[in-house]
Amino acid sequence: MTPVNFDFHCHSTVSDGLLPPEIVAKRAADNGVDLWALTDHDDLGGLAIARASAEEAGMEFVNGVEISIEWKGVPIHIVGLGFDAAHPVLSGGLDELRIGRLERAKRMGDALAAIGIPGIYEGAVCFATNPSLISRAHFARYMVSIGIARDVPSVFQYYLTPGKPGYVDHRWATLEEAVGWINTAGGVAVVAHPGRYKMSGGDMRRFLDDFKEVGGQGIEVTCGSHSPDHVMHFARLVRHYAFHASRGSDFHGPQESYVDLGKLPQLPEDLKPVWRLIR
Ligand code: AMP
Ligand code: MN
Ligand code: MN
Ligand code: MN
Repeated sequence: MTPVNFDFHCHSTVSDGLLPPEIVAKRAADNGVDLWALTDHDDLGGLAIARASAEEAGMEFVNGVEISIEWKGVPIHIVGLGFDAAHPVLSGGLDELRIGRLERAKRMGDALAAIGIPGIYEGAVCFATNPSLISRAHFARYMVSIGIARDVPSVFQYYLTPGKPGYVDHRWATLEEAVGWINTAGGVAVVAHPGRYKMSGGDMRRFLDDFKEVGGQGIEVTCGSHSPDHVMHFARLVRHYAFHASRGSDFHGPQESYVDLGKLPQLPEDLKPVWRLIR
C-alpha cells in the first residue's frame, strides 16, 4: 500500500523524548501516521517495543536512529533508516557515542559550576530517562525545574548554545563513520533538518557533496523546524543531487515540539520519497 502519511523522525524516553516508545507509537497511529520510524538520538533501545506497538496499531514500522556527527566543526544530525538493528558495526559505534556524551555532560556540569551554578550534571542525570543517554535537553529540563530559566528554549538561549557558559566543544562521530555504520547495517542515511544548521549556502553544498560521496542518499525536506521557504530550498537541492526526500516531525513530546507526529505538509509531489529505498 502506498503510504499517505509517513513520519520518519521522532524521539522517545530512550533519548530525549518525553514519552515512552509505545506511547509515541500510539500517538503516531492516532494522528493518522501509516508508516513510521522512531529515531532516538544515538540509541537503538526503543526499536523493538516501537515495532511491536506499531504493528499492534496497524502502522508499518521502519528502524530509525538520529546520529550526532561533526563536519568541519559544525554539529549535524544524520538519520539512519531501515537498517538491521542487530548489526554490531552500527550498535558498537553508537555505544561509543553514548560514552562520549557522558564525558561531555560532566564537562558541561564543570563549565556551569565555574560560573557559580553547581550540581547541574547530577541534576541532569536524574532527568535522563535512559541512564546511558544524556542530552542537553535533560540539562535544560533540570535547569527549568530549579528556576534558572523560565522554559527549555530560554535555557538553550542563555546557557547551552555555542558561546554560552554551559556549551562545551565535543568530538562526535564523523560524517564518514555515521553514514558508513548505517550503510554497513543495510540502511539509508538522511540529513536531518538541514535548515537548522548555521552554514552558508556554499558550505551546505560542500557538505552535501561530501555526504553524497560517502554514501548518503536523502535529506529531510518537510520537517518540524522547516519554514515553507526551507521546504522549497531543500526540494531544489534534492533535485540537484538526485537525493530522495524525507519527512519527519522531530516530535519530542506534547510540550516541546514544533509539530505533532504526522502533522506536517506533504512532500512536493515530484520528489522521490525516501521510503521507496526501504520497503
Ligand atoms: P544534544 O544532542 O545533547 O546536543 O542535545 C540536542 C537536543 O536538544 C536536540 O535534539 C533537541 O532535542 C534539544 N534542543 C536543541 N536546541 C534546542 C533549543 N534551542 N530549544 C529547545 N531544545 C533544543
Ligand atoms: Mn532531541
Ligand atoms: Mn536533530
Ligand atoms: Mn531529532
